[in-house]
Amino acid sequence: MTIPLQMAPKDLVFQVSHNDSPMPAAERDAILADPPFGSVFTDHMVDICWSEKGGWHRPRVQPYGPIAMDPAAAVLHYGQEIFEGLKAYRHADGSIWSFRPDQNALRMQRSAKRMALPELPADYFLESLKQLIAVDGAWVPSAPEMSLYIRPYMYAKEAFLGVRAAKKVAFYIIAAPAGPYFSGGVKPVSIWLSTDYSRAGKGGTGQAKTGGNYAASLVAQAEAAEHGCAQVLFLDSVEGKYLEELGGMNIVLVYKDGRVVTPQSDTILQGITRDSILQLAEDAGHTVERRPVTLEEWRDGVESGDIVEAFACGTAAVVTPIGQLKSKDFTIGDLDQPAGPLTLALREKLTDIQYGRQPDPYGWMFRLDG
Ligand SMILES: *Cc1c(COP(=O)(O)O)cnc(C)c1O
Repeated sequence: MTIPLQMAPKDLVFQVSHNDSPMPAAERDAILADPPFGSVFTDHMVDICWSEKGGWHRPRVQPYGPIAMDPAAAVLHYGQEIFEGLKAYRHADGSIWSFRPDQNALRMQRSAKRMALPELPADYFLESLKQLIAVDGAWVPSAPEMSLYIRPYMYAKEAFLGVRAAKKVAFYIIAAPAGPYFSGGVKPVSIWLSTDYSRAGKGGTGQAKTGGNYAASLVAQAEAAEHGCAQVLFLDSVEGKYLEELGGMNIVLVYKDGRVVTPQSDTILQGITRDSILQLAEDAGHTVERRPVTLEEWRDGVESGDIVEAFACGTAAVVTPIGQLKSKDFTIGDLDQPAGPLTLALREKLTDIQYGRQPDPYGWMFRLDG
């Protein structure tokens, strides 16, 4: 993986201040043995400032802790915010790697453009990851299926109650050790079809990784939970006919003839996991189709036996089989059926590369330590 340098190396010097009272090693190791998802954070965080006048400046590593914020900070009023999500994996030899972080850096730039935020140069993004691992590397678990979830984010911090793009912005990275996203391992989950709510609309922010898309999904997600479902599936907001994605994961269907099909739309997030999985499927000889997919096609396909597997994918949940789709007026699939063979094979191929159990012919892995 090569990234053209955009910054002069002297500008990439981070000021590091160490946490005087990091979590004791025994306590940390107990958490790493069985981490909750995203509720315990490492000892440090990265912070870079941006202003219209000064550009990106003052890159720092500092102790993890509360951020002082002006009550008028624009993000609190108008939601000008973006984020990313990626993981650090520990390989058998102890080294620490991340998966296609260049793609996260580029996607964050695309999200920034849409949300009128400044674009963080990719080398700042990658160097920030390395800086955090340099101080918090011990927080990367070594057990199978465990990782350190890394959350870069950026928000408008200018204190100003007017509606325009902020002239002062903050970029941070925090990290949390993570076990499996869904409890119960690689068990098929049930998803709820949202017919009353949309997550994103035409011309909106569906392709940007921004908090507002999640805020818009919460009532639908709550409705899913009320119906005993793990996740919610959204349809397109114009016709309510085409599959879009889940609250925070992309969706893929598998046909009996081996075709792998995923929705193409301007209003969904372009997942790096999905892109990688489709590449693996293509290279294993599967025909991959990226095109509009109707709900009707899925229902009919399951009924006729032409569609034999469905799964959700994203960094947090990796690849999760979908056993059942429930809605107000129908249920398809059966939660008791085992996970599909292609779903499991693709999941294994991907995680073998991520955890260094198999070679990485794609150059996807990027070393974070040393
Ligand atoms: C982050 C995200 C995904 C998954 O993207 P990955 O790059 O695979 O982690 C899918 N949908 C939404 C809405 C997301 O925010």
